[in-house]
Amino acid sequence: MHIQPKTRAETLHILFGGVPVWRLTQVEQALFSPLIRTFSDITTLPALWREPLHQVQVFISYRAAQVFWSQKKDTFKALLKLADGKQIETVLMKNARGAYTVCVSTQVGCAMACTFCATGKMGFSRNLSEDEIVDQVRHWIYFLADHPEIASRVSNVVYMGMGEPLANYDAVKQSLRTILKYTDIGPTHMTVSTVGLVPMLNRILDDSEWPAVRLAVSLHSADPQTRKEIMPTSYDNFPDTLAEWAERYFEKFDSKRRHLTFEYIMLSGVNDSEKHAEALIKFTRRVGKVRVNLIPYNYTGDVFHKSTQTDIDIFQQRLECAGVDVTRRRTMGEDIAAACGQLAVQEEKRAIS
Ligand code: SAH
Repeated sequence: MHIQPKTRAETLHILFGGVPVWRLTQVEQALFSPLIRTFSDITTLPALWREPLHQVQVFISYRAAQVFWSQKKDTFKALLKLADGKQIETVLMKNARGAYTVCVSTQVGCAMACTFCATGKMGFSRNLSEDEIVDQVRHWIYFLADHPEIASRVSNVVYMGMGEPLANYDAVKQSLRTILKYTDIGPTHMTVSTVGLVPMLNRILDDSEWPAVRLAVSLHSADPQTRKEIMPTSYDNFPDTLAEWAERYFEKFDSKRRHLTFEYIMLSGVNDSEKHAEALIKFTRRVGKVRVNLIPYNYTGDVFHKSTQTDIDIFQQRLECAGVDVTRRRTMGEDIAAACGQLAVQEEKRAIS
């Protein structure tokens, strides 16, 4: 029988069950301090209490980390080896505010099979636990502390690494809550990006524990047929269903706080024509106060090509003329394959002994 390992929070709750709750908070808080790297370092905790922690709980949920630096030294990618030998990638990138954004993975691989995405080509291996998601942020907090020459801090977290966050709903939700509780990163500085799993998007509307973080939906085409061709999880009435959901989202939440973004990869000859711009304009008008984020396509060894700068400019202008709020994403970390959609780790071939 497979026994589900306990999460760190569960273990700590069991260990600290009988003591004042602030002791538990003290340990959980310590996990986010760059100065504390083992349970023994939590000197505010009586020595007698630190020892049992060592025995039942690993301090951080990966065994090894390998960090790659971009040439410009503004983007870093870490390959983390998990307890079961599986590997995931997480990225740290400089943002417009001069601080850093952490991009976390939520699954090993991904089942969504988007045709332009490197992780989509790997297939799905397993969900990450809450600890495995949170510890990607802890990894970068330690990294920045160990590299004072970088002299900055983590200000944002985006759930845009490997995997589909809403297909791992509970662990993702808990990880968001933990990061919000123990860091100074606020909900408007956290974004969960989804392929658009409507049942899960609906669940968010009814879930009082889901934090007020920002949501981004990977739209990539407002034309149902095109979207189906490039994203196998899509279907004929997806745009209609998404528009109806978005209406309810705005009814339920204050649209200023609960920002909604549609991500749109610019693929040459696929979704960047006038016809596609018109479909997108029509769609955003229907939905209301949304932002469209145009993403340059990062090559992942497939049939797609990125749209030319001119085509992106024209597409953007069309949207702007129609009053759509458009932003453009910068591409970072291409030289270390750390850009959007490029995260993919080959499973290690282990010798059978
Ligand atoms: N599964 C989630 C989050 C992971 S990917 C989602 O689909 O949103 C984060 C973003 O990168 C998504 O918008 C995704 O469509 C985009 N992306 C995937 N492959 C890409 C590529 N090759 N170039 C640019 N963006 C890509």
